[in-house]
Amino acid sequence: DPVLYVIATPIGNLGDLSERAIRVLSQVDLIAAEDTRHSGRLMAHFNIKVPMISVHDHNESQRIELILKHLAQGHSIALVSDAGTPLISDPGYILVRSVREAGYQVSPVPGCCAFIAALSASGLPSDRFMFYGFLPAKRASRLRTLNQWADETSTLIFYESTHRILDSLEDMIAVFGASREAVVARELTKTFETIKLDSLASLLTWMQQDSNQQKGEFVVIVRGAPPRIDEEELDKKTLDILALLATELP
Ligand code: SAM
Repeated sequence: DPVLYVIATPIGNLGDLSERAIRVLSQVDLIAAEDTRHSGRLMAHFNIKVPMISVHDHNESQRIELILKHLAQGHSIALVSDAGTPLISDPGYILVRSVREAGYQVSPVPGCCAFIAALSASGLPSDRFMFYGFLPAKRASRLRTLNQWADETSTLIFYESTHRILDSLEDMIAVFGASREAVVARELTKTFETIKLDSLASLLTWMQQDSNQQKGEFVVIVRGAPPRIDEEELDKKTLDILALLATELP
């Protein structure tokens, strides 16, 4: 039966393309790529010779008809984006939704995802997190967005580009406070991979002082706000113990 495969590709290091991804990419009838020139280089590297069409934010809706036609003819298709997992701050959602609604199988070939890679090596709590993706480009809306998460206790994860990394860190300081812990993960899996854990203020100073640190692709992870203790939720006994501790402890 025809399948739409959603295939993760490397975020820098070509060694991260899985064996299964290479096999599936070689065997499908068509590759739908965010940018055919960009993905063409990846395919050339792995000697994959399969016809490609582009599916990006501006033509996704129009491409669906063509892709459904291929599936109807029994052709399997692979969806890839420029880097990492498709649909994660990348196109593909409308396509996957439509292909499912048309009754075809959609199957993932998992692999790289920049924020999962960053989180796994960050040293910040990873049990609960909120992935936001790219913040708004304009300062006012960026501050408004960040403010929604000011009291969030889950770890917060953002994507950022070289153009706005300093501005975004400044805004994060304004909303979360200078001493809130954060991690900047830059150029993951590449030659100049850097992952730094520090306070937001120290991270900003460090980046301002070394312009090399401002280049490349970034994941910014911010520690969640400390949980607030709601006194009404605590029972009498617990409050008595807390009161006792307060008098006994130095
Ligand atoms: N689909 C991708 C994924 O699964 O991570 C994300 C695509 S999004 C258009 C590109 C953004 O992801 C970059 O601006 C950066 O924030 C982040 N990113 C991608 N590759 C990265 C890398 N090697 N190191 C750090 N961040 C990266």
